[in-house]
Amino acid sequence: MELFADIIIDISHSKLDQTFQYRVPEALQDVLEPGNVVEVPFGRGDRPTKGYVLRVTEYSACPPEKLKEITRIETDLAGAESKLTALALWMRDYYGCTTVQALRTVLPFRQKAARRQKKTVALKLSREEALARLGQFRQKHQAARARLLEALIGENILPREVVTGSLKITASVLRALEEQGVIACESEQVYRTPELLRRLRKESGGDQETDFGYTDVSGGISLKKDAERIHLNHEQQRIVDTVLSEWDDPDRREYLIHGVTGSGKTAVYMELIDAALRMGKQAILLIPEISLTYQNVIRFYHRFGDRISVLHSRLSPAERYDQFERARTGDIDVMIGPRSALFTPFQKLGIIIIDEEHESSYKSESVPRYHARETAQKRAALERAKLVLGSATPSLEAYHEAENGRSRLFTLTKRATGGTLPSVTIVDMRAELRDGNRSILSRDLFGKIGERLERGQQTMLFLNRRGYSGFVSCRSCGHVIKCPHCDVSLSLHKNGKLICHYCGYERPALSRCPECDSPYIGGFKAGTQQIEELVMQSFPRARVLRMDADTTRGKDGHAEILRAFGDREADILVGTQMIVKGHDFPHVTLVGILAADLSLNVPHYQAAERTFELLTQAAGRAGRGDTPGEVVIQTYVPENYAITSAAAQDYLSFYRQEMEYRSLSGYPPAGDMMALHCYSEDPGKLAVAVDYLAQFVRKLARRYEAAVIGPADEAVAKVNDVYRKALFVKHPQERALTAMKNLTEQYIEINTGFQEIRVQFERK
Ligand code: ADP
Ligand code: ZN
Ligand code: ZN
Repeated sequence: MELFADIIIDISHSKLDQTFQYRVPEALQDVLEPGNVVEVPFGRGDRPTKGYVLRVTEYSACPPEKLKEITRIETDLAGAESKLTALALWMRDYYGCTTVQALRTVLPFRQKAARRQKKTVALKLSREEALARLGQFRQKHQAARARLLEALIGENILPREVVTGSLKITASVLRALEEQGVIACESEQVYRTPELLRRLRKESGGDQETDFGYTDVSGGISLKKDAERIHLNHEQQRIVDTVLSEWDDPDRREYLIHGVTGSGKTAVYMELIDAALRMGKQAILLIPEISLTYQNVIRFYHRFGDRISVLHSRLSPAERYDQFERARTGDIDVMIGPRSALFTPFQKLGIIIIDEEHESSYKSESVPRYHARETAQKRAALERAKLVLGSATPSLEAYHEAENGRSRLFTLTKRATGGTLPSVTIVDMRAELRDGNRSILSRDLFGKIGERLERGQQTMLFLNRRGYSGFVSCRSCGHVIKCPHCDVSLSLHKNGKLICHYCGYERPALSRCPECDSPYIGGFKAGTQQIEELVMQSFPRARVLRMDADTTRGKDGHAEILRAFGDREADILVGTQMIVKGHDFPHVTLVGILAADLSLNVPHYQAAERTFELLTQAAGRAGRGDTPGEVVIQTYVPENYAITSAAAQDYLSFYRQEMEYRSLSGYPPAGDMMALHCYSEDPGKLAVAVDYLAQFVRKLARRYEAAVIGPADEAVAKVNDVYRKALFVKHPQERALTAMKNLTEQYIEINTGFQEIRVQFERK
């Protein structure tokens, strides 16, 4: 029997999947599988070319004798690239995209940018020979030659730019000496080094290579002394011991560490990474981009030295490619980076760690809209690697999986360095209004800020405007106008209507609260700027800093504000959620959270989860030093469980109540959900196409017993003149949604009505 393989050749060019068929040689018939990287003859002159196997079949599209044969499997890459290709195929099938889109996401395809070269001049003589030759040069008054040789006798090898620069040696002298066999002029490939890595090396007194901004490829890999090694406490040690004792157990792959900030999770990660390296394996550590700071990475650099590399969004494609190359060739063993670092092509991946796994930045907003947590689960399974998630506020998904036994749960209950949790007060803003205080600041918070100023301590004011989308609420009773069908808040539109972004339900705006008849009903208007002004008016002596998208626009704007506040150049920092993420300010003893419920009304089923996360994190900012901290949470819904459990720092209580809501409404992780996002420049065509799509999906839904919601305008209905609508499908099982997605993809492909419509699938 003959076998044939569909192969994709070049992923750096075409956007569409174009496959070519090849014959599978007999020797490969039993081993070849989708995902394999192969070499095939291609194009004019049958150039040996790399290809990715998508499918192996018994059928050929044309007479077999016309097909060429696969030359070989790329075995040297088999470890990394074939598994990544298999991962890409899974992403294509699960998230819905073309094969090329998936491969381009996962594989570091070569960029056009030329490789950098490092040029050096090396001494080819022994020390004695060189000294003899130096004497000859001096005798003959060959000053330049003598100068170079003198320098080389000390160093043996010098960068070419030093030789031609400060030593002022000309090219003709170099050529002459090379011909005499005194020196060798060499050039070697070097990798571009990310700025963050360069800084780590420089400031920790690393190798001198840094002066040139290059990484030495040939050697120089040094394991730093155990500078960052700490003696783990009992709780931490138990985690490490358990994971290590189950290392080869195929049924135990995933772990969740639930531990408050400062409970010592990072110390555990380092120990686990260390263990993986000792086994000759490699490690990937994902950190949200915003936390990928010098302060956070330097600890890893101190422990693992040049065996780590970092990725971040500001790397050029060439720099990124080079870091992946270093991983593939074994030049490094630990990759630290955001979402995309998950695709580091290590040959023997031992462990993937995802810190702050609840962060929404782990989900990609472009096709394929993958989630790093899910994709890491898949990669860990494919490569028999361990997966460790860590968070102070685990995502409902992660905690649910720990509960149902898919992963093992560890809890770190105390701050590793001691210290007490802050005391939290909830202020009912409805009562403030009743008592005649219409300010954004409650009397309680106002008084406490004053106290801090007198004592010379710092205050952070956090305005929770995350994902704010113009909901309408009553300032008198806290009532929020919600969709009667979807249990998410309605958004106020410019035309005055209130609209649901899940199902499209709309109703006219109101002038009085339907619950209490108060006229104080409307959208929330205050921004960070107004708060800054208000604070400056109320406390004229206070030095106030503001941090939001406007004030951090410039390069380093973000870091500069944090530095200034850290150096106590200001008394009060006003900001958006940017200020709550993992920065330690020991002199902050008061954190005020304004409009705590704002994010509760984001029209999204995860609104309460995001709110709980933010409030817990914000509260954690208070009192990291010796002085105990205080937190004031201002809200119109003081009884809401997201707010009360955040105030009590009680994750489990939040989790239980939130799971109840998800179960009742069939939202993940209680059930599975899929969104179909439709985009077009032409609103008319979009509306028609989406209606057809909805009809088709509803027909499928009857067969699969799924629930369909929508179509509706997206929360932001138009971006850059592209109109956006969405449709949602819910089903208890993920498999049913995948099947529905596949059928819908086919429907879209064969229907010409969708030619000007872009449809993107999103899971969860
Ligand atoms: P997390 O990652 O949970 O925020 P870290 O690992 O960063 O926690 O630990 C917080 C602080 O406590 C760090 O300064 C760390 O050096 C210190 N620390 C962690 N574990 C221990 C330990 N076992 N003994 C002493 N200090 C520790
Ligand atoms: Zn009311
Ligand atoms: Zn609705």
